[in-house]
Amino acid sequence: MHSFNYLRPSSLADAAKALGASADAKLLAGGQTILPTMKQRLAQPSDLIDLGGIAELKGIKTEGNNLVIGAMTTHAEVAKSAAVKSAIPALAALADGIGDPQVRNRGTIGGSISNNDPAADYPAGLVGLGATVVTNKRKIAADDFFKGLFETALEAGEIVTAVSFPKPDKAAYAKFPQPASRFALVGVFVSKTGNNVRVAVTGAGQKVFRQADMEKALAGNFSADAINGVKVSASGLNSDIHGSAEYRAHLVGVMARRAVAAAG
Ligand SMILES: Cc1cc2nc3c(=O)[nH]c(=O)nc-3n(C[C@H](O)[C@H](O)[C@H](O)COP(=O)(O)OP(=O)(O)OC[C@H]3O[C@@H](n4cnc5c(N)ncnc54)[C@H](O)[C@@H]3O)c2cc1C
Repeated sequence: MHSFNYLRPSSLADAAKALGASADAKLLAGGQTILPTMKQRLAQPSDLIDLGGIAELKGIKTEGNNLVIGAMTTHAEVAKSAAVKSAIPALAALADGIGDPQVRNRGTIGGSISNNDPAADYPAGLVGLGATVVTNKRKIAADDFFKGLFETALEAGEIVTAVSFPKPDKAAYAKFPQPASRFALVGVFVSKTGNNVRVAVTGAGQKVFRQADMEKALAGNFSADAINGVKVSASGLNSDIHGSAEYRAHLVGVMARRAVAAAG
């Protein structure tokens, strides 16, 4: 690891100022991705700005029909939160299925979505629920946030402060975990709010995506049977030692049916 300056601001304004002061500065949330990357010398920030001392980035609150989760809230906190379990139990279950206890106790929702690993679980939750990402500069719809492989809509100097989730009528997440890391080989998040159905797939492609054919079929009949006949193309899906594109395409159908059945 190369040497770097460590900063621990106590306000969002100070963090933004420090981030803007150097083109090579990086934010530190749970450190689950950034620290290994630095150890491998794939990232060499001049300054590491630890968000851990900023109280305004932590916690879970209800605003009208929305659940607002601070960027520095850990996966473990989301998983055990009574407010999340009551408003969107599928989101608490998603957080509870991330990695292992050590990862859940350190990893944060802000770090996860900013990193945008193609196999991460939260992107499916955000897109599957039609969430909004709140930054220190603006609000970004989840559909517009996840741009590509490890790429988001965040601009230089932009810090995720929270994610706002509208409460659905029904929702569930089903994932087929990669056995070693627990990342999603394929994960499908399904929600229904009135007649609006969302089906978001993670792990299968370069980034999270919506499955429009399934959304259409489920809008008319929200049951696992309704998507039996929906063909999922393997074209463009990920293929690696853990599973071929065809295998992943098959899993999208299986996980989607499981999620719909669980959502009830
Ligand atoms: C062994 C292992 C297993 C894992 N399994 C899973 C799994 O099953 N499912 C899953 O979804 N994830 C999994 N993860 C990922 C983990 O859950 C973390 O969410 C992820 O590593 C990043 O979150 P973090 O808080 O540690 O972010 P960090 O590593 O601190 O930061 C990640 C990146 O985001 C940037 N960043 C952090 N916070 C912000 C912010 N507020 N605004 C803007 N940019 C920011 C940082 O600068 C950095 O570039 C696993 C990780 C490990 C090590």
